[in-house]
Amino acid sequence: MRYTSPMSANPHTVAVQEVVPQLDLGAQYAAIGGEIREAVERVLTSQHFILGSEGAALEQEIAKLCNAQHGIALASGTDALILALRACGVRERDEVILPPFTFVATGSAVSALGAKPVFADINPSTYNIDPAKLERLITSRTRAIIAVHLYGLAADMDPIVAVAKARNLPVIEDNAQAIGASYKGRPTGSIGDVTCLSFYPTKNLGAYGDAGMVVTNSAEVAARIRNLRNHGQTTKYVSSEPGWNSRLDELQAAILRVKLRYLPAWQRARQAHAAQYTRRLSQIPGVLPPIVPAGYEHVFHQYTIRVETRDELHRALSDRKIGSAVYYPVPLHLQPIYASLGHKVGDFPHSEHAANEVLSLPMYPELRDDQIARVTDAISEFLHCQ
Ligand SMILES: *Cc1c(COP(=O)(O)O)cnc(C)c1O
Repeated sequence: MRYTSPMSANPHTVAVQEVVPQLDLGAQYAAIGGEIREAVERVLTSQHFILGSEGAALEQEIAKLCNAQHGIALASGTDALILALRACGVRERDEVILPPFTFVATGSAVSALGAKPVFADINPSTYNIDPAKLERLITSRTRAIIAVHLYGLAADMDPIVAVAKARNLPVIEDNAQAIGASYKGRPTGSIGDVTCLSFYPTKNLGAYGDAGMVVTNSAEVAARIRNLRNHGQTTKYVSSEPGWNSRLDELQAAILRVKLRYLPAWQRARQAHAAQYTRRLSQIPGVLPPIVPAGYEHVFHQYTIRVETRDELHRALSDRKIGSAVYYPVPLHLQPIYASLGHKVGDFPHSEHAANEVLSLPMYPELRDDQIARVTDAISEFLHCQ
């Protein structure tokens, strides 16, 4: 019989018995723990916990990485989306266009403002929003378009920005999964009008708690979000509009600054693992490895394959003590929270097929080649004995 600890409800908890976990944050902490503890000690010694020098430095460092002028550190990636939408003027009953194949937060941020998510299906080979679907979804109520860079691969930004510009609409980049990625030589985060980042612990740059950021080249949007994250205060104890508290604390900022120095090396490691996976999986019929279009740099937040017998493969890997995960099994238009929108199965077929066929394999910088071989051998064995 299998013992299920209460912790296993958290999908990010690594089951100790797995020989290749889907994610292993412990390996990273083992490598950089000393530096992390020094950074934490520095903040504790300063006794300055909110809106201090660590947060300000992190904002500059991340903005620079994204080739943007301003960074505003926030409490989470979800808050980044909500505040970015608000700064773009999204209000009740407005419409925001986004892909249905994403983490639910992309949609719930729109709903949090009382606005309506309007879905545009994805391109099935990149899993990102299909620019050709946008034009006919735009109405007089449309206020913004959100492009998600899913799994670490940029959406096709040029045609998205072209459609948006023609209608004077802002483009928001949901860059929660793709920090460090680039599109035609430009880093994600500098192509749309406002970009949202998440530093959730499992992201490519992860804090030890919740954290997020908005980066933008608009001084106006930056100033507005700076106010909104701190009760709308334009000067101390004088509030110009209702905001709330979405400040990032100094401990998380200091931790993120240590990790940021390692991000380029971690990214190269992820890309090397992806190349290794793709080389091995290309020889197995029935498996579709991720596609990286020319001119894109994928940062492999996830290494996601497609297989028709996905659920069976997921179970077979689990039986061999290999972790894998489905991001995401239910597209937004079929989520119970959006039942009132009246969508049905078949409305966004590319998103639905992806939701049924995608499987994300173990991926983290410290993954070893022998572990990758073990995963691909298990996939090959499973597909051959079907
Ligand atoms: C993680 C994530 C978010 C939300 O970020 P949080 O920091 O968890 O609030 C939003 N969108 C996408 C695509 C994500 O992966």
